[in-house]
Amino acid sequence: MPNGRRGGSGSRKHGPSMLEGFNTTFARAARYVKAPPDLLENIRVCHHLYAFQFPVRIRGKVQLFQGFRAQHSQHRLPTKGGIRFAPQLDADEVAALAAIMTLKCAIVDVPFGGAKGGIALDPRAYEAEELERITRRYTAELVRKNFIGPGVDVPAPDLGTGEREMAWIADTYNMLHPTGIDNMACVTGKPVTLGGIRGRREATGRGVLYVLQECFRHPELLQSTGLSGDLEGKRLVVQGLGNVGSHFARFAQQAGARIVGIGESDGSLYAPEGLNVDNVLAWRAHTGSIRGFPDATTFDSPGACLELDCDILVPAAVENQLTAANAPRIKAPLIVEAANSPTTPEADLILRRRGKVIIPDVFANAGGVTVSYFEWVKNLSHMRFGRMAKRVGIQTQRRLIAGIEALTGGTFPAALREEVLHGIDELELVNSGLEETMSQGLQQILATMERHGIEDMRTAAFVCGLQKVVVAYEQLGIWP
Ligand code: GLU
Repeated sequence: MPNGRRGGSGSRKHGPSMLEGFNTTFARAARYVKAPPDLLENIRVCHHLYAFQFPVRIRGKVQLFQGFRAQHSQHRLPTKGGIRFAPQLDADEVAALAAIMTLKCAIVDVPFGGAKGGIALDPRAYEAEELERITRRYTAELVRKNFIGPGVDVPAPDLGTGEREMAWIADTYNMLHPTGIDNMACVTGKPVTLGGIRGRREATGRGVLYVLQECFRHPELLQSTGLSGDLEGKRLVVQGLGNVGSHFARFAQQAGARIVGIGESDGSLYAPEGLNVDNVLAWRAHTGSIRGFPDATTFDSPGACLELDCDILVPAAVENQLTAANAPRIKAPLIVEAANSPTTPEADLILRRRGKVIIPDVFANAGGVTVSYFEWVKNLSHMRFGRMAKRVGIQTQRRLIAGIEALTGGTFPAALREEVLHGIDELELVNSGLEETMSQGLQQILATMERHGIEDMRTAAFVCGLQKVVVAYEQLGIWP
């Protein structure tokens, strides 16, 4: 039976609330930020929260759905953040995730305020056509209250949503604004054929890879982990094969890492010699589960993967996975939070005391919003990146090759010539911008640790983001 109850606001959730987690880290970070306490308090709280009910007729019966959209801070506009479809979604979770978005955008210099939204529903309980009507009605409600628009608030995919839902949102917005020339910039993460950008789908996973690669360029950061060199041969465990985890695992494997463990909601796989990620994905597509994948040990418990012996643990599923219960048993010396809030505050403390290095979600998974920013700019410019410059680039390279050949009397290597004369297109530009952003982000966080003598990256990342938001409020004259 479809889940049409009145949303998750009254329901109990398991584990500590994300808002408590956010507030705990915020308080720790605020001590390092020079700003009036009331400005900091103003930055901590969520400024706009729209919670609403809307009816949709499903299989002959009217059902009420609970929708949310939180705009945490409008110091930069538009506000930005995903839309999640999750059964237990409630106002606190949406507000916390919106707050995280504010700091996330600031850390990676994406000029947006933070937002988040969603509907309390289990998307697996509905047919595509039903989800379309629910999504369109949700979007219409956002339009009615001016909670969506290219210069106001720009949603994106999150848990339980993807390109298909973003296409419905874009089309609904477009229908309601018949003359709006910038309509396509009202949402990001759209299909490429509908104003999306190449590389957005993989962006969060790819961003996590770039973060890891940058980590290995800073031996001082990894000193306590005993890890050195680069990703080549490192033993990785990835929890969650959703959009983030599956792309990350594939990229990490291509970069030479050994994926020794994979966890999904119905079990975990372990293979010390390494799993072939593409084969695991094919196995899951074929059987409906990762369980029973040949050449690996299957554990019944989805959480078993977290405690496996490995070098790097990448939780890429949902919140509250690393808890006070399993934190004492986590073996990985390096943890990269690809999911939002995978570590509870208690677990965070235990892991820090045990000397683990944690790359926090607020930075590690910022690749998604970074490429969303590129998509938004593309939509507003109404032109694909690289379209004007590609031929000029190729011509310049051709002349350069001719010059080199004339000077040396030799012939430029054929394979290299092909590569050089290929020209730079949208995907290469997107990935270049993403890599630069994630590398810079990590360097800024490390500089913050150094400057303030902060030992953990979560606090430092918050300080780094917070400082920029404070400057924005002060410079924009919003704060007296
Ligand atoms: N939902 C993603 C996040 O949590 C992406 C947000 C966006 O692209 O706006 O960062």
